[in-house]
Formats: sequence, structure tokens, C-alpha cells
Amino acid sequence: MYNYSKLGHFTWTATLRECGSLTNGARSRPTMATPSSGGLEILLSTLQNAGDIESMLNILNVLDELLSAGTDRRIHHMISKGGSEALLMALVNSARSFTPNYTILLPLLHLLAKVGHRDRQIGLKAQKADAVLVVLGLLRQNAMNARRAAACLWVLRVFCSSVTTADLLGKNRGLDVVFKLVSPHTTKNLRTVKAAADAFAAMLCSKVNCRTAVAKGYIADLLKVYEDWHNNDTNLKNIPIRRALLHCMHRAANSSVGRDAIVAEGGISLLFQTTQTCLSMKGLESLVEPAIQLMRKCNPKVPLPLTSDKSAYSFPLPGRPVDDWDADLVLYDGSLEDDSDEDTENEEPDNRDYEDDLETDVNKLRPRPEPDRPLEQLGQYVHLCPELHHDFQDLDSGSEVDESSDDDSALEGDLNNKTPSEQGGSPSLSDQEENHLQTSDFHKHYLSCSRKGQEGHSSMVDRLLEKYGTCIPNHDPRLYTATAANTKSVAGYSILAFPDFWGHLPPQEQEPMAKRPPHVQRKKVFEDIQRLVCPEDIINKVVFDMDDPSPQCSPDMCPSSLRFFSKFESGNLQKAIQVRSHEYDLILNADVNSSTHYQWFYFEVSGMVAGVPYRFNIINCEKGNSQYNYGMQPVLYSVREALEGRPHWVRTGSEICYYRNHFCPRRGQKCSFYTLTFTVTFHHDDDVCYLAYHYPYTYTTLQTHLKMLEKSVDPQKVFFRQQNLCDTLAGNSCSLVTITACPTSRAWKHLHQLRNRPCVVLTARVHPGESNASWVLKGTLEFLCSSDPVAESLREAYIFKIIPMLNPDGVINGNNRCSLTAEDLNRQWLKPDPNLSPTIYHTKGFLYYLNSIGRTPLVFCDYHGHSRKKNVFLYGCSMKETLWQSGSPINTVSLKEDPGYRTIAKTLDRIAPAFSFNSCNYLVEKSRASTARVVVWREIGVLRSYTMESTYNGCNQGIYKGLQTGTRELEEMGMKFSQSLLTLRRNSIHYNSRLIQHAPALLDLDDRLLDHKSNNCFEDDEPPCMEEIEYSSCSDPFGANELDMEVNGNTSSAEEDEDDAEVCRTGRRRNDSKSRLVPHYLQQDSLESLTIKSGQCNGIDISNGYLC
Ligand SMILES: [Zn+2]
Repeated sequence: MYNYSKLGHFTWTATLRECGSLTNGARSRPTMATPSSGGLEILLSTLQNAGDIESMLNILNVLDELLSAGTDRRIHHMISKGGSEALLMALVNSARSFTPNYTILLPLLHLLAKVGHRDRQIGLKAQKADAVLVVLGLLRQNAMNARRAAACLWVLRVFCSSVTTADLLGKNRGLDVVFKLVSPHTTKNLRTVKAAADAFAAMLCSKVNCRTAVAKGYIADLLKVYEDWHNNDTNLKNIPIRRALLHCMHRAANSSVGRDAIVAEGGISLLFQTTQTCLSMKGLESLVEPAIQLMRKCNPKVPLPLTSDKSAYSFPLPGRPVDDWDADLVLYDGSLEDDSDEDTENEEPDNRDYEDDLETDVNKLRPRPEPDRPLEQLGQYVHLCPELHHDFQDLDSGSEVDESSDDDSALEGDLNNKTPSEQGGSPSLSDQEENHLQTSDFHKHYLSCSRKGQEGHSSMVDRLLEKYGTCIPNHDPRLYTATAANTKSVAGYSILAFPDFWGHLPPQEQEPMAKRPPHVQRKKVFEDIQRLVCPEDIINKVVFDMDDPSPQCSPDMCPSSLRFFSKFESGNLQKAIQVRSHEYDLILNADVNSSTHYQWFYFEVSGMVAGVPYRFNIINCEKGNSQYNYGMQPVLYSVREALEGRPHWVRTGSEICYYRNHFCPRRGQKCSFYTLTFTVTFHHDDDVCYLAYHYPYTYTTLQTHLKMLEKSVDPQKVFFRQQNLCDTLAGNSCSLVTITACPTSRAWKHLHQLRNRPCVVLTARVHPGESNASWVLKGTLEFLCSSDPVAESLREAYIFKIIPMLNPDGVINGNNRCSLTAEDLNRQWLKPDPNLSPTIYHTKGFLYYLNSIGRTPLVFCDYHGHSRKKNVFLYGCSMKETLWQSGSPINTVSLKEDPGYRTIAKTLDRIAPAFSFNSCNYLVEKSRASTARVVVWREIGVLRSYTMESTYNGCNQGIYKGLQTGTRELEEMGMKFSQSLLTLRRNSIHYNSRLIQHAPALLDLDDRLLDHKSNNCFEDDEPPCMEEIEYSSCSDPFGANELDMEVNGNTSSAEEDEDDAEVCRTGRRRNDSKSRLVPHYLQQDSLESLTIKSGQCNGIDISNGYLC
């Protein structure tokens, strides 16, 4: 391990010899007897017991040199061997002697500072050794001696790593002693001033000390001192001192009294002004960041400018008192719930938590199909398998009669069926002259609810379509309008959002992720602070309020303000407040009947001036981080552009960032919100635009789409049925779609083949804010209805049962997460309530039914959106992988598990560019026990039960790397997912030349396990954000190395050298910056080599106390 023969290499023998000679000890060669004895222990023991100065000095020197020569590992080794205690004892012994000898004390203090800084227990150890007040006493005695004072201050600072030590110092007037040395601007004893500021900051880790500091006026003094340094440190030589002063205030601001004091003393204004100067000067970067974080921290918390945290919408629930959901507030009070499902939200659990979450109970990991209801109740689902009972008479007659479809009436779009609902305050469009058909006139499409208005409305739509007519596949504005009449919303919407009405086509160009400008968050936060500092500049005018039917701001009253609107299907914006001429604070509405869940937004904005950047701040976001910090942009739809032939949702916005703000819910200050800010420059004057979190996809869009699809398929070939699974709480239909191939004839053989096709069950949009899931499902539906040869094969191979929207009410009412019950429907699968969660209850019932007739689905997949990760990936369920990952002692060899659950992901890895195999995982978490994926796997016994997560942002791999996903890519993913299913049936499908030509990638698969590893789903793909999203943390900005350098400087300083001559007397000083106390002859070698193992040092015996 170490070499005796190489000269120049430090060896244990050499060290001891050196020490031995220094201590005038025995001349004999030391011998090693006890295996565990180490040279280090001997040095430490000698240090505590050595009587003479010279030997102590030399040991200190040896130690210091050893420790400074390498990495921190050495110091940690020394700490583990009792190094801190030895130094503390030596210090106490020396300091208590009749005349303290600073020749020893100074290097001791220096070494203690360095070691203590790396010893988390140093504070407690110092208390135990009675060293705390000894050092404080030394500081008192040496306040006028800058070098000694600095050494004491460093040691006190490291002692304060323990709050109780800081408290002890505070009780003994330590704050006063130290603060005396925190001087206003000076050119002398700078090292000591900085050490005092650092020590003062360290003592403020204690709340008691913070209160004392406030009571004694030290906060005001600190601000004055900071200002003085700011004004006089013109040559910028003392930035570290200024930073240290900021750090003191940061520490003080960890307590509310500290924050209040900083605000009361005008601290925010002072920091704002000084920081403004810093921003304009080069070299002051390092002051800007802490100053801004400090201002954020002190910016007093303000409840959202709302009258209540509750959603603007409430809905009476069956069997619950009307205002029962108030009770939820108690639950939510104080902390935001963890509303994660397959997404990870808010706080990321660390790995250990995650592993604790893994299910390790084998009984719970074993699929056990056992209905949660009596078998006789399953009979009600018979009609949902029309393909099994259909006689296909039309195959022979050639007729297209299709009586089993029970949802055809709406195709007629009978507008007169709907009862009139409020029309809002705008003039009817039928009154408009044709030549007034400008964008702003028809942005609000009234449903023709009154007979009177119908003619005018229809003719306007006709004129529009004639003039600008779009051609969007599977979309028809007229049908959309007709379908919308049957959509039931809590608020009774009567207006259509233009994009949903008109339709969307993905833009031609792919859209790269947005580049984050440097320091964008700093700039935004600075502007936010400015509101507090210069309140007179803030307009603070409510320009839109959903609760207030008569907006204070009519277009005539303030023509320069933007206008907002959100009362349409899937819309979400509760309030808009103009804060500056081109800046608006936007507040999102909570989910219906709830007071939380804010993320989804979708609103209309108009009245803009082209070419002007408008800043939008959504100020009540909930999540701890967002893809908006990693290149994602919101989406925008311009009516003007649409009418000019570009009906696109496009990614938009610059200067985007996401950070914690100073707003809190009305119910309490314990939780706070995050701001999503983005700037939009509109292309047209007076356009009508829509902004959304992600590409909207409404319930009416789905219903329209299903009707279009049904019309599009050839009923001789494609069996397509849309049926009502059940009604939702609000009375909307939850659709179930069946797609399969019609048999080629009514021959028994063909009917038999059909009736034996395995089922694939697909569901989506249980979470209303995850509109991406709907676009993926749209891709699946369209592909399955297409004439593509793979689609034909899929229809021949499977019966698809698709529930495209599990939460219609949530989608319609602009919810982000829940249904009308304010509950996450993807947490209801274990025991769904038939009255409160009917869509889940009946989906599960239908799955049980399939299971009961021996038709357990081959595949189940629930489509979701993921807000924190890029790419698309699957979560599945594997008993073995879960047990392995959890470190369970259960022997998995005897457990049988079909590895087929991995096949789909392997196929997607090859064929779907947005798909990321490495993000997939097959672990069963306890916290997910009530999700669709886990329940369908365990209770229904579906081996391939998945959640498919699609990013809101884009990809970081494959051909889409660096691009944001559009609806085209999402739809493609849905298509690829369907295609991948073919690989499960390779042995039974009918091969034809068209298929072979079209799908080589699908057919040419081998079953070799790819060398992919499934990942922990809680792993955050993203690196930490380049700017601090939070501001509450206050880590010591000064690293150990900085302290080391300061300590080292104290030795070689020319400021005052009464000791230097003596120190240098023993030898020459190396020209090495690492040189410390005294010269020495040691070379770089690891401390560990000081530990002697038995047998490696023959004949060396130190057990006889040779050095002691
Ligand atoms: Zn979800």
C-alpha cells in the first residue's frame, strides 16, 4: 500500500521519526504491535497530552500539512478518528493555562476552523469539551488583535453548525461581541470584518438569536453597514464582505421577525436600489443573486386577490349537502395534497421513500380476479358487446342499416332541442352587417338556443365557412355547433371558443423548444419586487372576473386594456388584473367543488396592439417545478390567422419561467403559489386569440369526432359502434366505442373468428388537464378506422373497446385534475362509488363482465399526460420487478410471471419516435394501488395493463429531440401504439403482401430481451433549474475552500506578524500556496496510509507509549 523504498514519499515511519525527534522521545525504532493502532491516533493523542510547545506545534504542523495536501477525505478520516475532540481538548487546555500562548493557540484555532467546518458534529463536540465559551472568551480578550480575533471568529462560526451552540453563544452575549467587529466600510483588518460577518450570520441560524438581533436593532445596523460598504467600496475590492453581510440578512430572514424587521427598516427598497446599481456594473454578479433572493424572501405574503379559495363553480352532489365540499378545506389547510397519480408532482420523494412505497406483499402483487360486486349485476353490460350478438344480415343484403348504434340522433344537430340559456351581454351576431364580419365580431359563437337567433346564427356560420371555409379532416364546424348544444356544463356555457368550433390543423413547421434567456427569472422577480417598492406605478385594475357578471372594465372604459374571456367549454381563467400597461396577473379557477388543483388554463384574449410584448403571469400555479422551465411554451390560436387559412394552435411566448411567488391561498400562509410568466407579442391588431396550457380537446370535440369517424368508415368492413357506457353526474354521456373488422361473410367460421378475437381496452382523459391524452387517443381512433393494411389486420385480430373520455364533466368545466366530486377519478378504482364516480364504476364493471365471459382483455391502456417529463413512456405492472426493486427478501425464482408485459414497449421503442423505453417502468407502488393500471392488472387479471404518459413538452431523444410535440406527433403516438399491438398476434394474423410491405418493422421482431433497464418513475429527468425556483432555502454560500483560504491568509498575512517570525524560525517556507504553519518535509500522501495494518510494519512497536 505504501512504499518504504521510494524516497520523497511520506511514510508512517518517517512521520513518527520526525515527531519522535521533535519530541525528544526514545530513539529506538517504533514497532507495531496492535493491529488497530494507527499513526493518526498517536498524533492526536500526543497533541492532547504533549507538554511542550515545540512538539505540539510540530504535530499541528504535520496535521495541517497532511490535511491540506489532499482532498476532504483526509479530514473526514481524521474526524472519524476523534480529530475534532483532540483539537478541542488541546485548545481548552492551552487556553486555560495561566498565560495563554498564542504561538500554539493561533495554529490550533486555524486547524480547528478547517476541521470543524467539515465536521457536522463540531458544535456539539465543542459544547461537550466546554470549548464554546473558551473561544468566546478568547475573542473578548483579543477583540483588538485582528489576527487572533479572526481565528476565534472562524471557530465560532463553525461551532454554530449546531443551533444549540449558537443559542449558547447568544445567551452569553456572543452577538454583541461579534457584531462590534462587523464594521462599516474600512480598509483595515478586512479579513476580520469578513470573519465577523460570517460568524454573525452563523449565529443567526438560531431563531432565538434572530429575535435578539432584531430586538437590539442589529438588522437596521446591518442594512446601514451594507449600504455603507455599497457606497464606499467603489473599487469593488470587498465583494466577499458585502456578500457576507447579505448572508447575515438571509439568515435573519429565515424568521418572520427577521423578515418583518428588514421590511420595516426599508430593507427591500435599499436592496432594490443597491441591486439596481449592481446590475449596471460589471463584477457585481455575485451580489445580485443573493440580494434578489433576499428580497423574494422578505416580500410579504399576500393572499390571492379573490374573495374565496373556492372554485367559482359548485355542483350539488348526490347524497351530499350542497356546501359539503367546504370540509375539504380542512383537509387542504396548511399543505397542498400530493395529487400525483402517475405524474410526480410537488415534492419529489427521494429514492428511499420511493422504495418504501413499493408493494412487497406478494398477495397484493398476485393477480386475483374477484369481482367487487355480485355477478348478477354484470348482466347489464351485455349490450356493450354488440359485435358478439350482431347477426350481420347487412353483409348479405348489402344494406347499411345500423340499428344498434344508439347515439345517432345528435347527428341531426337538432338545435331546437336545447332550452334557452343566458346569452351574455354582447349583441347577437345575427344583427351584424355582413361587411362588419371582422374577426372581433365573431369570436363568440352563440349557440343558437333561441329560435329567433337561429337563422341569423346559421347564416353567419354559412357565410363564414363560405368565405374562409376550412377543410380539417374529421371536423365539421356545423356539426360541432350542433353537438355542443347537447353538452351540459355547470355554468351553462352558451358560447363556443373559436378554435374548437373552427378546428385545428398542426402547423407545417416543427417547433423547437424555447431557449431560456439568461437570468430571465431574475429579471421577472426584480419586476415583481418593483411592485412593492414603487406601488404607485402599479395599475392593479381588474379587467376580468368570472364571479362578477358586470366587469368593471368595459372596452369603452379602458380601450388600452386587453380583454379576457373564459366562459366556454374547457375554459379556465377566473380573474385577470392589469398590473402595468402591458402586464397582467391571471388567476386560475380551482376544480369544481374544490379549492385546489390549478394548472390547466384556456382563455380568450382580445383588444391587443400588434408588435407589443404583453407579459402574462399566472400567479396561482401549484406544482414545484414545470416543463416551462425546460423549453416548453404555452399554445396560442389566432382567429385572424385561422381565417387567413392558418387554423393552427402554435407554441408561443418568450421570457418564460416558473418560480415560487409571494402569493398564498386565502386559507393560510403555509403554502404558497408559483408564477408561470410568459410574454406574447401578437401579430395582428385587435385580433382575437386563445391561450392554453396545451392543445385543447373538448368533450364536444370528441363527440363530434366520433360522429365523423362513424360516418367515415365503410360499414361493410368496419364494425364501429358508439354507445353510452353511462351518464356522468352532470348528465353527459360517457361514450364507449367498439371497433373491429366485420366478418367477411355470415358463415359460421367467420362469425366464430370474430367472436374469438381478443379484446383490447383503451381509456383516456381521466385527468381533464391532460388534453395530450385525447390527441393521442384521436390518433389511435383514426388509425383503427383507416384503410391502412396494419389497421385492417388489427381489426381482424382484435375487438377494440375504447372509452375516450373517462371524465367528461371535468373536461367540460375546465377542471385540471378531478371530476365534479373534487376527487381524482384515477384514485377511485379500488372501490368506485356508482353514484359519485359512475364512469369508473361502469368501466370496471364492464371489465369484470369481459372477465366473467372469459374474454379478459389482452391489453389495457389508460392514456395520460405527464407534466414533468419529456417523451412518451409506459408504466406497467410486474410482480418480480417490484420485489427486486424493493429489495424484498422473497425469493422470486419460484414465482411465475409472463415476461410478455414488456413486448409492447420493446416494439414502441423501435417504431415510435417519441417513445422512450428507458423511461418505462413496471413497478407497483402502494400509493398507486387505486389507479386504473394497478387495479385492472390485479383485479381483472390483465397482464399488459398500462398507463401511457405523454409529455406536454417534447422529446430529448430520437428524431424529435429538442422539439416540442404538436398534435401531429401526439396523434402519431396513438397510431404507433395501436400498431405495436400487432406484434402480440404475429402468429395468428393473416399475412398478405400489403401488410408485409407496410409493416416490416412490426413483423420483423425478435423476442430477444433488449438490454433496457426500467427506471424509477420518480426520477426527475430534468437537471436542477439554472435559477432557484424556491427562495426559502439558505445554504451557506461560502465553501470550505473559501474558509481554508481565509485561514491560510491569516498566517502569512503581513498585516500584523508578531508571531510570524517565531513560526518561521523552525525552517524554510515552501513556495507552495498550501504551506501552512511551519515547514515540513512531507509529500502528498493519503492520511489513510498513516493507519498501519498488522504485519506491514515489521518490528515497529508503538504500543509502549513511545510517543506519549
Ligand atoms: Zn394523469
